[in-house]
Amino acid sequence: MVKTRFAPSPTGFLHIGGVRTALFSWLYARQQKGQFVLRIEDTDRERSTQASVDAIMDGMHWLGLDYDEGPIYQTQRFDRYKAVIDQLLAEGKAYYCYASQEELDQMREAQRERGEKPRYDGRYRDFTGTPPQGVKPVIRFKNPQEGSVVIEDLVKGPITVANSELDDLIIARSDGTPTYNLTVVVDDWDMGMTHVIRGDDHINNTPRQINLYQALNAPVPKFAHIPMVLGSDGARLSKRHGAVSVLQYKEEGFLPEALLNYLVRLGWSHGDQEIFTLEEMVAHFSLEAVNTAPSTFNEEKLLWINQQHIQTTPLSNLTANLKPFMDERGLDTEQGPSLAAVADLLRERARTLVEMADSARYFYSEFDEFDPVATKKHLRPVAETPLHTLRDKLARLEDWSAKPIHECVQTTAAELEVGMGKVGMPFRVAITGGGQSPSIDATAELIGQSRCLARMDRALAVIEVRKSQNG
Ligand code: GLU
Repeated sequence: MVKTRFAPSPTGFLHIGGVRTALFSWLYARQQKGQFVLRIEDTDRERSTQASVDAIMDGMHWLGLDYDEGPIYQTQRFDRYKAVIDQLLAEGKAYYCYASQEELDQMREAQRERGEKPRYDGRYRDFTGTPPQGVKPVIRFKNPQEGSVVIEDLVKGPITVANSELDDLIIARSDGTPTYNLTVVVDDWDMGMTHVIRGDDHINNTPRQINLYQALNAPVPKFAHIPMVLGSDGARLSKRHGAVSVLQYKEEGFLPEALLNYLVRLGWSHGDQEIFTLEEMVAHFSLEAVNTAPSTFNEEKLLWINQQHIQTTPLSNLTANLKPFMDERGLDTEQGPSLAAVADLLRERARTLVEMADSARYFYSEFDEFDPVATKKHLRPVAETPLHTLRDKLARLEDWSAKPIHECVQTTAAELEVGMGKVGMPFRVAITGGGQSPSIDATAELIGQSRCLARMDRALAVIEVRKSQNG
C-alpha cells in the first residue's frame, strides 16, 4: 500500500510552496488509495513553535488535506533516533568526530585555496587514538567512498551521484541531538513510507539518505522531487511576494478547492484542463505529469480560478463558505432573503468571497448613503417621474417576483416613452445604493417589496433636494 507524508518544520507559516508539496503527497496517496501522514519535524527546538504547528494544522484543515496518521512529533522520538545512532556506531558505520570549529574552518580555507570544493576530509573516520581534551564530538556517518548512488526520481528521472562527491555527514550534533538527515530516514523507514514526495530543495540530501537506508538495511522508498514555486520576479517564493500564510487566502475570500486547483496546476497538467474539482484532481493526478521546471506564482490566475469555482461549486458549499464573511460584516442573514439565493445571484460576478459579501450588504442592511457618482448620474430631476411611476406600480404588485417586477419596469418605460435604462438605472441606484448589481428584477425580488419601496422613497427625497438646490 502506498504511504506518503508531509513533513513540515514548524518554524513559520504554512506557505504556498509548502501547501503545494503537501497537496502532491496527499493527492498521490488518495489516488492510490493509500495513506497520508503528517509529521512535524520539530527537532530544531529553538526555531520550532506551537503557533507554527497550529498554523500548519489549521491550514491543512481548511484545505481539507486530511491525514490518516499524525501529527507525529519528532521530538517524541529522540530515544529511537539515539538507538539507531548507537547501532550505527556499534556496527562501525558511524564515528565520533572531534574536529573543532577552528580546525574545520582551517580545513575549508585550505581546500578553497587549493581550488577544491570545501568538504569534510574524513580525518576522524578511522581514528583510534586518544580523543583530544575538551572537545565534545559530533557523530558522523561513514558514507561509502566507492561507487555511486542513483536516485530514480519519479519526476526528474534517474540522477546519479558519485560517492566521492559526498562527505561524511553529521548525524548527531555535539549536544547529542540528531540531525535532519538521520531523523527523516529513521522516520520514513519506521513509518513505512513508500514514496517520499518533497520539494527539490532537498534533492542534495537524497543520495546521503539513500546511503543511510542502505547502512540500516532498510528498504529505500521511491522519491519524487517537486520543482520550486517562484515569485513573479523569478526568485524562490518568499514573504516578499505578498501573501505569506495560506490562511491569508482564506481571509481574502478564496475557496479552498480553488486554491488547491490553482496549486495543482502550478507544476502539473492534465491535457489543457484548467478547472478541476477535488475529485477530478484525485482521479487524474500522476507524478509522471509533474513538470520538471519551476513554476511561477501568478495572483491573477489564482483569482480567475477562484472565480470559476465560485461560479460552479455546489450552491450549498458556496453559501457555507460565504456565511462567515457575512457574519464578519455584522450582516444578519436570518433577517432577509436566503443567503443561498443571494449567493446564487452574485456568483456570476464575484472573484472572491470578500467581493461577494461586500456586494451582498444591501440585501441585509440599509446603506448609509447613495453612491455619490451613481447619484449624480442617475438620481437626477429627470428620473423623478420614472421612479415615481414605477414605485406606484410596484406598490400594487401582489406577486413580488422577478418577472412581474420586470414587467413593471417595461410598462413604465413604455408609458413614459423612454428607454428601459431611464427607468432601470434610477431604480437600481435607489434600491442598491450604487450603479452596479446583478439583474435588477432578480435583485429587487430578493431585497423584498417593503424594503424596495422604502428605498425608492428615500431616492425620491434625494431627487427632491437636488431639484431645490438647482433652483
Ligand atoms: N522538514 C523538511 C522541511 O520542512 C522536509 C523534509 C522532507 O520532506 O524530507 O523542509
